[in-house]
Amino acid sequence: MKVFSNRLIIFTLFILSYPTVLPAQTDFNADRAYDDLLAQCDLGTREPNSIGAKAAIEFYVKILESLADEVFLQNFQLDDPYADRKLDLTNIIARFQPEKQERIILCAHWDTRPRAEYDKYYPNKPIIGANDGASGVAILLEIARQLKTTSTNPGIDIILFDGEDYGEPRDLQNYLLGSRYYVDHPYHPLAQQVILLDMVGDTDLLLKIDPVSYQSAPRVMEEIWAVGVEIGYDQFQLVPGTAMYDDHVPFIEKGIPAIDIIDFEYPGPDNRYWHTHDDTPDKCSPESLEAVGNTVLTWLYQQ
Ligand SMILES: [Zn+2]
Repeated sequence: MKVFSNRLIIFTLFILSYPTVLPAQTDFNADRAYDDLLAQCDLGTREPNSIGAKAAIEFYVKILESLADEVFLQNFQLDDPYADRKLDLTNIIARFQPEKQERIILCAHWDTRPRAEYDKYYPNKPIIGANDGASGVAILLEIARQLKTTSTNPGIDIILFDGEDYGEPRDLQNYLLGSRYYVDHPYHPLAQQVILLDMVGDTDLLLKIDPVSYQSAPRVMEEIWAVGVEIGYDQFQLVPGTAMYDDHVPFIEKGIPAIDIIDFEYPGPDNRYWHTHDDTPDKCSPESLEAVGNTVLTWLYQQ
């Protein structure tokens, strides 16, 4: 009888408090995320084998080691397809609740492009990659802080991939180096869903649907876009965008559902800051990082 009445009370409370159980907002701190975007850019360009890349790895590990249950550096070497040398590459893997079987991977690429093929003046110089590199990582570092204080039902693997942007234009096999390596050498238990963030810092943020992602995981995409709109971010628009070849593709090829949250209009349809030296922090905003970070985190807490 006592047990029954306790259950009854709990059930009643649950019903009464239901609307506040799903968080309308999280504590995602957009200014702190933007500071992490700036800090990465302050390290310099972060292409493979650069001084900036070494400093970036130290920067990520220092933050993630204080937050995650486990942090691993997945180091590997490849022959440089464009020079007579080895490329030193590193994926950074931060696991929360590593014992859980039900898992979600949140990922972004941390490397920046060694060239700027669409730049009018310096096409052969590496870019700083405020949006194309630093923005996705900045959101994931802040999500990691939130996961430290409030855990999710599924276990989370935050993975920062190296070598996404190494390939010369149209040389697709020399892109996605880190994610391709990871799917061949994954950490177990393996996640059942992958959420990739790339180019999510644009001040003029507009998130359309990547058809490759939609084909892989339509329900998850619709859910995340619906959550975004519901909590006040009209940057999420359920209309078709460009089909992306990004770090989600190696997962899809292995049969793991994966989506790419990306704004491939930087700042507009001409994409004129992309792969140029105009990809700088002043083209990105805390508000855009918040729209994506808060939405993804809210969705995660609903799982
Ligand atoms: Zn890129």
